[in-house]
Formats: sequence, C-alpha cells, structure tokens
Amino acid sequence: MLRHLATALFATVLVAQEPIALVSATVHPGDGSPAITDAVVLIRAGRIERVGPSSEVPVPTGMRTIALKGKHLTPGLIDTHVHYSQTGWVDGRPDAIDRRKEFSYEQAMADNQAHPERFHLAFLHSGVTAVFDVGGYPWTRTLGKTTEHDENAPHVAATGALLATYDPKVLQLPDQKQFVFPTTSDDARALVRSHKAAGSAAIKVWYLETPGHGVAEWTEMVHAIGDEARQQGLPLVVHATTLATARDAVDAGANLLVHSVEDQLVDDAFVAAMQQHGTHYCPTLTVYHGYLQVYAGKPSAEVMAQLDAVHPSVKDRVLHTMDRKPQNPRALTGMQKNAELRMQTMVANLAKLHTASVPVVLGTDAGNPLTLHGPSIFVELEAMQASGMTAKAVLVAATRDAARAMNRGEDLGIIAAGRIADLLVLDEDPELDSKAFRSLTHVIRGGRLHDRKDLLPRGD
Ligand SMILES: [Zn+2]
Repeated sequence: MLRHLATALFATVLVAQEPIALVSATVHPGDGSPAITDAVVLIRAGRIERVGPSSEVPVPTGMRTIALKGKHLTPGLIDTHVHYSQTGWVDGRPDAIDRRKEFSYEQAMADNQAHPERFHLAFLHSGVTAVFDVGGYPWTRTLGKTTEHDENAPHVAATGALLATYDPKVLQLPDQKQFVFPTTSDDARALVRSHKAAGSAAIKVWYLETPGHGVAEWTEMVHAIGDEARQQGLPLVVHATTLATARDAVDAGANLLVHSVEDQLVDDAFVAAMQQHGTHYCPTLTVYHGYLQVYAGKPSAEVMAQLDAVHPSVKDRVLHTMDRKPQNPRALTGMQKNAELRMQTMVANLAKLHTASVPVVLGTDAGNPLTLHGPSIFVELEAMQASGMTAKAVLVAATRDAARAMNRGEDLGIIAAGRIADLLVLDEDPELDSKAFRSLTHVIRGGRLHDRKDLLPRGD
C-alpha cells in the first residue's frame, strides 16, 4: 500500500513537472492589467516561470511548446461559495424541500463523503480550479490537504461546521455536526479555537435573526467570534442577508460576506464600513433560481443542459425534480414575484458596492438544489455581467479577488511569475463577454494540461 502510494505520488510529480511553453495566445492576467497579445507563458514545476509578449520572452530550447494562436488564456476560475456537504438537489436540503421518505439524507451525505472526486472533476471540467467550502461536515476540512497537489481536483479551503444562530434541525447526522450553536461569547471563542485546532481554513458564521433574537441579542457573540478568529489567524466568513446582520458582520471583522444584502438598499455607512474593513462581497445572485425550479417541478433548459457536465448520480437526482407536481400556480407566481423584487435589490446593491470599489468576488452557493457544483459558475458569471459589471471586472472578481477572499491571494488568481499554474484556454475573449468562459477547451491545473473532455465526471 505504501509503496503503491509512493509510486502514484512520484508519477504525479513527474507529469506535473514537465515544463511547457504556451505560445501565441492572448493572456488576460486577471488583475485588471491590459491583455497581452501574442504572449508566451513558461510553466515549470507546476508554477508560472515567466509571462510576457513573445518579443520579450524567448522559449528555452527543448521546452515542449503548445501553440495557442487565436486562443485566450485566463487564470482558473475561483468559486468562493460552495458546499461539498450538499448534493445539488433537494436530498441535501430537507429543511427546504423534504423528500426524505424517498431519498435518504444520511445516504446522500455518506455518498458525498465517500466520493468528493465527483465534485472535484465537475469543478475542473467547468474551469473552476479553486473553491472555498464555506460550511459543512467536519470531514470537509480534510479536502484542503488531499486536493492541494491533486491535478484532478481544484484547490479547496474549507471552514468545517458553521457557527450558527439558528438551528435548521434536519441538516445534521447522528454522528457528525454541520452546525454548532454557541450561546455565549466564551462558548464561541472556544469553538473558534477548536476549529483552528481541527484544521479549519476559516470561520463561518450563519447569522440569522429569529423572532426575539436579533442583532441586539447576537452582536456581542458575533464580535467575540470575529476577535477570536483574528487572534487565531483565521478569516471570518459570514452568511448575512439583511443590512442589519451584514453591517454587524463587517464591524465584527468579516473578510467575506457570501450573500448579497437582500432586504433593502445598502446605505452609505455600510459602503464605507465595507471599504474601511476591506471586506469582500460575494453577491451569490443565482442560487434562488434553483429553488424556484424545484417548486415549479421543472428544471430550466440551462440546468438540463448542465446535466452532461456533472456526475451521473447528480443527473439522476435532478431528473427526479419532475416527478413532483408543481406548487399551485398562485403560490408559484407569488414566489417568482418575490424573487424578482429581491433580485432588483441585489443588483442595485452590487452596482453600488462595485462602483465604490468594494472587492466583489464570484460565488455560486453550489450544492444547493439545482445549483450544480461546476457548471453553475457560467450562469453566475453572466448574472454578474448582466447586473452592470464589465466583463473585465467580472474576470477580476472571478480570479484575483476571489483568490484573496479565500486567503490564497499570494499564489492563486493571476497569471504572473511565481504563481501556481492554474489556467484556462478559451476560444473567445472573456473581456468582451463573460459568456466566453463557456468556450473553454483546456484546463491547466498545477502545470498539467487537460483537454476539457477528459475531466468529465464518470459513473463508478
Ligand atoms: Zn452557502
């Protein structure tokens, strides 16, 4: 077993270390600087060694050259809002839609834990080379180590269990906890320290107000979490969808808000607080569409098309959406109307924060019903552009700033010397239109070039 493992690791290293030169493509560095036409990118030992125009960067003799004339190179996409402890369907969210009589929650969670590679490949196949798992079962914390040097997986940073102010009851297993519930500041500090000891890459707070327990009741504890996280050197990530909770989270030191403010337009004081703290804002615009499709009993044409880009077990699940009768039309119309109003607020808030230079980052909430790990990224990219960001700004949000939001700003997120060589090869120009990411043909992960079709998750 040991010998076998050693051989496998050695083989991986050998392949990853084959130096390659990518020549003649247009490079979009991901940091907002101008694209480089007729570029050369030298990759050695899994890292970018040099990048620049061909007139300045000669290809060393003997280096394997890959000609990419007419193609576009970007950094790998980074999804800062995913959950390996959800399935992409309702069997992972019985708190929202309960079909546990037909589909076991325990079995779904056991499958996720046994087969994280299904999601790993789906992410890479859609050009996602790093993800931030912001809340799940304790085992997700192992993914950081197991994926870091795996050329068939994205880099993963994971928070582990959420520190929550509200108990969704059914989202727990008999032997593992996805949510923990501090009630005092001391409790909360102890939980932050135990998360640190257990290998959490960050601390996630699920900050919901409930009747009788609003910000006034929670603020002291949330600030204690922020303070302890800072002392332990862990970023603070917060789910906060109201202006009141989001503002309190920012004041508590949040590095990343993983949802939009949805209940009202943000005020100037909130914008100023975000700027002052350097908080990243992940608008997560499209996740609710998946829930609406479930209530309607009908996946969209977009989701149906995505089923060819995910593991067969995910496809099977999603097709069961249609064996339920839709909600009555009046209820459905009401839900859709609410969703439209909420989206208007989200879009306005994104525009205001982005215009004020608050760092906006890409995130899908993948794992929620019909927000599929991997291909949901394209829809979110396009929604960000549709909300008024330029395609170039969306690219920065999806690469450099997303890397910073997951605390990997030093080695991921841009095409520059010294960075890990995670790159995408596209047929179309991503600075003209974010739809260009759908023209992905190849994925380079840790210096290893994959044809996209070789990354398709397969049945087992
Ligand atoms: Zn989430």
